Amino acid sequence: MATIKPIEGRSVHQIQSGQVIVDLCSVVKELVENGLDAGATTIDVRFRNNGLDSIEVQDNGSGIAPDDYDTIALKHYTSKLSSYDDLSALQTFGFRGEALSSLCALSKFHIVTARAVDAPKGTRLDFEISGKLKGTSVVASQKGTTVVVESLFYNLPVRRKELEKTVKREYGKVLGLLHAYACISTGVKFSVSNQMPKGKKTVAFSTNSNPNTKENIANVYGAKTLSALIPLDLKFEMDPTVKSTQSGRNRSTQEDSGSKEVCIVGHISRPVVGEGRQTPDRQMFFVNSRPCGLPQVAKAFNEVYKSYNVTQSPFIFADIRLDTNAYDVNVSPDKRTILLHDQMALLESLKTSLVELFEAHDQSVPQNQL
Ligand code: ADP
Ligand code: MG
Repeated sequence: MATIKPIEGRSVHQIQSGQVIVDLCSVVKELVENGLDAGATTIDVRFRNNGLDSIEVQDNGSGIAPDDYDTIALKHYTSKLSSYDDLSALQTFGFRGEALSSLCALSKFHIVTARAVDAPKGTRLDFEISGKLKGTSVVASQKGTTVVVESLFYNLPVRRKELEKTVKREYGKVLGLLHAYACISTGVKFSVSNQMPKGKKTVAFSTNSNPNTKENIANVYGAKTLSALIPLDLKFEMDPTVKSTQSGRNRSTQEDSGSKEVCIVGHISRPVVGEGRQTPDRQMFFVNSRPCGLPQVAKAFNEVYKSYNVTQSPFIFADIRLDTNAYDVNVSPDKRTILLHDQMALLESLKTSLVELFEAHDQSVPQNQL
C-alpha cells in the first residue's frame, strides 16, 4: 500500500498560513501595509491586552467593493499583481494575496468596510476558516476599512502559549515596526493605542499628517532626538568589481540588476559622543521606502559610527533607493527578508561614503562642541 498521500486541504492551509503570519509583528505589518496600499491618509492601530485579545487596524482608504467580498480572503487572490513578470515594477507593499486568507486560518477575524459611495453605511464581512465568505451584515462605518483580528493563534496551542509568554516583548517589537512605518509614511496620520483588561488605555504614539520624515521623527521620538541628527544623503555608484557572494550569486553586470546608482537618504546621529544611545533600538532601514530588516547594512552603519563614538549606538533612519531590479522582495513568505543582489558592493561603497559624510561633518563642528 502506498504510504505517500497528499495532506488534507485544510491542514495545508493552516501550515502555509503559519509561515505568513508568524507573530504579532507579521499581523500588524500586513494590515498596515494593506491600509497604505489602499491609499489611506489615516491609520489607527488599536491593541487590546498588548494584542493578545485583539488587534484592530482601521484605515480611511478606498474601502472594498461589494464584487470583491467573496474573494478578498481567498488564498492568492489579490488586486495588486497578476503575473510574476509584474513583480519588479511593483508599487505596492502586498502582492501575494496571502495575508487575509492566513489570518482567517489563524484567528477570529472579520472586516468592516465602506467605500466613499457607501458611507456612512458599511458592511461587516465574516469568513470561514478557509477564507470563504460566511456572511455579511449592514453596520455603520466611515469610508475605509477596519480589520479585526481576535485571539491570534487560538487554534495553534503551542504558538498561542508562546505568544502569551512573550507578548510584552512582542508588543515592544511591534511598536518599533510601527515607528518605522509612521516615520517613512509622509502625509499619513498614525495613531497607536493599547487597552489593557483592567481598563487602562494608553496612547503609544501618534503622528500628524506631516509632509516630511523629519516631522514624523519629531512626532514619534521627540524634538530632542531630532535635534541630535544630521541629514543622511549618500549617493554612489556600486563598484562593479566587488562581486556578491550571496547564495552563489554573481550578479554584478549592468544587465542583471539594472542601474548601479544608489542613494541613501534619511537621518543619522551626529558622529559625536553624547548624541547616540546605549542600545541600537532606534535604527530603521528601508529599501525604496519599504521597511525591512537589513542586518548587514545595519552592521556596516554601526561599524563606521563606532570609529567616532565607541560608547553609543546611532539613531539611524536610512532609505536605500535603488533600481527595482537590484533586489528581490519575494524571498520569504512573510516578505521580511529582502535580497540585495549586489550587497557586498553596496556595503563597501556605503562605508566609504559614510566616512566622507562624517569627516565633512566633523570639520564643520567647532571644537568646543565636540
Ligand atoms: P495582498 O495585499 O498581497 O494583495 P491581502 O491578503 O493582504 O493580499 O489582501 C487581499 C486583497 O484585499 C488586496 O489585494 C486588496 O485588494 C484587498 N484589501 C486588503 N486590505 C484592504 C484594505 N485595508 N482596504 C482595501 N482593500 C483591501
Ligand atoms: Mg496585503
